[in-house]
Amino acid sequence: MATLRFFCATNFSLSIQNNAKLDKKCITQKVKNIVNTVQFPSISSSSSTPLESLQRGNWVKLICGASFEDVVDIRNLTLVYTLAGVDCIDCAADASVVSAVNEGIEAARDILCGLRKPWVMISVNDDKDLHFRKAQFDPEDCPANCSRPCENVCPANAISFQQKSASQILYDNDAPRDGVITERCYGCGRCLPVCPYDKISSPFSSSI
Ligand code: SF4
Ligand code: SF4
Repeated sequence: MATLRFFCATNFSLSIQNNAKLDKKCITQKVKNIVNTVQFPSISSSSSTPLESLQRGNWVKLICGASFEDVVDIRNLTLVYTLAGVDCIDCAADASVVSAVNEGIEAARDILCGLRKPWVMISVNDDKDLHFRKAQFDPEDCPANCSRPCENVCPANAISFQQKSASQILYDNDAPRDGVITERCYGCGRCLPVCPYDKISSPFSSSI
């Protein structure tokens, strides 16, 4: 089976990451404008179902991540990947995440009438599945002169020093946050070994 894997933090040209979270309507309108002005060959209202894709061997799914819970990015990525024609959206077992996926699908179908609905696949925790570990550290405990390699190595932009840098990813009613943004951490473990002061841990540190 030719399954393409896309991680939820994949960058796309709308620049919705590393900046202030954009309004849902604004994102939808931006995507709509792109669809109306550029004829993407991959965007179609194909009559084939996800099951038929499976049978043909070209079934494709977007993997948001079993513990990735940033509902704004999940909604927007679902919107874009539904337009691109994926057969399935794989997401965390969380009601708000599933709602964000469904919202993204419907936003895509509002842009392109007749667009087929992808399946929604929900990943559940299997005890100590590494996908569910979350990095943690106390930013107050970090030496002021640390060059923050943890922030640079994180592929999900899940480590932030809001009060100490210009980047602005806002959560919890726009309150700036330092340290690990748990909604975005998907437990890859990359940040743990790069900390020169051994400040970062995770529930399954010994497994990394
Ligand atoms: S484990 Fe560390 S590097 Fe990986 S997503 Fe979480 S914060 Fe980022
Ligand atoms: S690398 Fe370690 S000490 Fe430096 S900012 Fe990150 S967690 Fe703190």
